[in-house]
Amino acid sequence: MSGPNLAGKTVVVVGLAQTGIAVAKFCARRGARVVVTDGKPADKLGPQMAQLAGVAVTWELGGLVEQTFTSADLVVMSPGVPTLPQVIAARAAGVEVIAEIELAYRFLVPGTTLVAITGTNGKSTTTALTGALCAASGRPTFCGGNLGNMPMIDAVDHPANAPGGLVVVEVAAFMLENCTTFRADVGILTNVTEDHLDRFGTMEHYAHIKGRIWDFQRATDVAVANAADAWTMQETAGIPGQLYTFDSRPGAPHPVRGASMSADRTHIELRLPDLEVYPTSDLVIVGNHNMENAMCAYLAARTIGLPIATVRAGAKTYRPLPHRMELVGDRDGLYYYDDSKGTNVASVAASVRGFPRPLVLIAGGVDKGGSYAPMLAALDDACKGIVLIGAAAPLIRAAAAAHGATYPVLDATDMHDAVRRATELAGPGDAVVLSPACASYDMFQNFGHRGRVFREAVSAIGATRLDVLPA
Ligand code: ADP
Repeated sequence: MSGPNLAGKTVVVVGLAQTGIAVAKFCARRGARVVVTDGKPADKLGPQMAQLAGVAVTWELGGLVEQTFTSADLVVMSPGVPTLPQVIAARAAGVEVIAEIELAYRFLVPGTTLVAITGTNGKSTTTALTGALCAASGRPTFCGGNLGNMPMIDAVDHPANAPGGLVVVEVAAFMLENCTTFRADVGILTNVTEDHLDRFGTMEHYAHIKGRIWDFQRATDVAVANAADAWTMQETAGIPGQLYTFDSRPGAPHPVRGASMSADRTHIELRLPDLEVYPTSDLVIVGNHNMENAMCAYLAARTIGLPIATVRAGAKTYRPLPHRMELVGDRDGLYYYDDSKGTNVASVAASVRGFPRPLVLIAGGVDKGGSYAPMLAALDDACKGIVLIGAAAPLIRAAAAAHGATYPVLDATDMHDAVRRATELAGPGDAVVLSPACASYDMFQNFGHRGRVFREAVSAIGATRLDVLPA
């Protein structure tokens, strides 16, 4: 077995959630002395602790003990755990502190191909689509990371971790922060827009952490970057790998190596540098942003050597992930889309820009501190109204007024009320789109819960449930 020898080493696993549980099991299997620590007390972590029943771990819950950190051989951070004082003390004492993906990476065997995807928006879709293209090759494929319940550490003991195997992972900025050697054969950065500034402070710092996806690459590795995004392109300066760019804007110059749309927007064109064309009709996912995600996935698939026919076959099998512009209902030709995963302004702007039919937007929730102007500008051509829910409603209403919006902007008391009001504003041939541009936790448990309540509300007003996209 390749990878560092953990036998007899003291490994501190920080954060007891999905990833921490997987890391603790992994390290215990390899003979490490595992300490699991979390700031939450044991009585709040019952279900998580139960998942480690029978695994030899030491618990330090309800607070973090500096001495445990400074005397460890290795500290493994779960995503989302900030750089705590104990982590700083461990580093000062010469203890290595790494992300779970860094640990997983160190155990990948030579000959395994790694594709890693990060970015503010589009990570999950790009990861899942790339995974579908890889799976269509028939080669062992692991698709996970931040996506679904499949932390990358689970790839180590997966059949994909073998020569010829394909490992595709979604990577969050929090994970890259604690990487020191993580090197992907293909590293994709979809975009860098305002999000998580509460954690990273400035856009410069946030973009820089995202750019770490390319920092440890070799000259033969591939870096895929969004040519239309200044923050992303800034991070390509001086990278060691080969740069491939994508650009979905109409009339965008063809990249020497990369992807763009055909003039009539019916095909994705890859230049590797030789021209290859892929009909967008292979895909059921809609919207300009999804063409960008597809460009990234196609570039990854082709640069790791999958055949064109495999890429097209995989694309045809791909279906949208839940709550990402999912068509969930139809009432007499009025279509209802669940884009509950649109949790920031840039994602909503990207998914409503150039929307194929007039729409009424349902938005609001917990404000994230950025400007709503990009979303309002993207709505200009197609919007028939906005219905607001949640705490951010006054902010969005004020932003719409400042933008000079001429369509109605209404308040709703809850999701059912919002769907009713949006339905009144829309007509046959239009769409009602839940794409909130905000976090959900003022009214819902998470974006999935918000999407499910939207679906209930859509069926409550008599729409039929749809599982296929209209032509
Ligand atoms: P992530 O995993 O980065 O959150 P998802 O693929 O889950 O990304 O998409 C989340 C939301 O972001 C979608 O519902 C859509 O509104 C928007 N989105 C998806 N892809 C892109 C993209 N390439 N650029 C901008 N916004 C996007």
